[in-house]
Amino acid sequence: MIISVASGKGGTGKTTVAVSFALAARYCQFIDYDVEAPNADIFLKPDIKNIKKVSIKQPYFLTDTGNDFSKCAEFCHYNAIAVIGSEVIFYPELCHGCGGCLLVGPEGAVREKDVVVGEVAKGFTTPGIDFLKGNLIPGSMRTTTLQNELEKMLNKSGLVIIDAPPGNSCSMVMSVKNSDYCILVTEPTPYGFNDLLISMEVLEGLKVPYGVIINRDGVGDSAIEDYCTERNIRVHLKIPNDIEIAKIYSQGGTLLDYDSSYGEKFGIILKVIERISIGEADNHN
Ligand code: SF4
Repeated sequence: MIISVASGKGGTGKTTVAVSFALAARYCQFIDYDVEAPNADIFLKPDIKNIKKVSIKQPYFLTDTGNDFSKCAEFCHYNAIAVIGSEVIFYPELCHGCGGCLLVGPEGAVREKDVVVGEVAKGFTTPGIDFLKGNLIPGSMRTTTLQNELEKMLNKSGLVIIDAPPGNSCSMVMSVKNSDYCILVTEPTPYGFNDLLISMEVLEGLKVPYGVIINRDGVGDSAIEDYCTERNIRVHLKIPNDIEIAKIYSQGGTLLDYDSSYGEKFGIILKVIERISIGEADNHN
């Protein structure tokens, strides 16, 4: 079973929740899909054993051959090439590595090279958590390239916990699209509510069932809870707004360090999600 943990708004406690699920489960695969800013390892402290570089193919243009590369620019749907006279301006961050410019360009004058965009790291933490994360090179836009690499390593035979990147962009979609269930972490503020609604819309479009965890309960109002009650959306848990949690978090501690009963609480949520996914329980409050 694959459970993703997502949040329309950054800084709501998504990683805190994802890590809590992994610690409650004890035996699972944990994947940090937030390749632009992975941080779950700070809390799970895996022993990283294996790091693999991830590269993409990128074209380069032999402009000293005197060839005309305008067909390459015309072909490139991503506007990664501009040709001005005999000069070729290449925007690597826009290139999707489709290889089209090699096919339409002057023979032998467009070549390809491997360019490293990041790495995936594999590790382990006791008692039985297989840990995976991607790490994008700063400035690179190839988020989904790294996420594709992580996807290849999904172990669907057991429980998988995915820590999705914040927001509702395509990298979030990549992270949640294969899930059996998604937990949306939010906070009871107007910003949190607004971004939660967008995330719900994304998941409904993807047909991924979801429930909600409200973090920092007590900071704002009850609008999210009221909305979920009205629409029969399950609120699995409310985590209080307690400065002690923030202090423990800032030192690399977890919710279970704050209060060990959270192990049991997250264990119960896992069982509820399992029952929902096999049709033994409905996904309502
Ligand atoms: S490889 Fe594809 S995306 Fe990249 S520059 Fe060539 S045509 Fe454009």
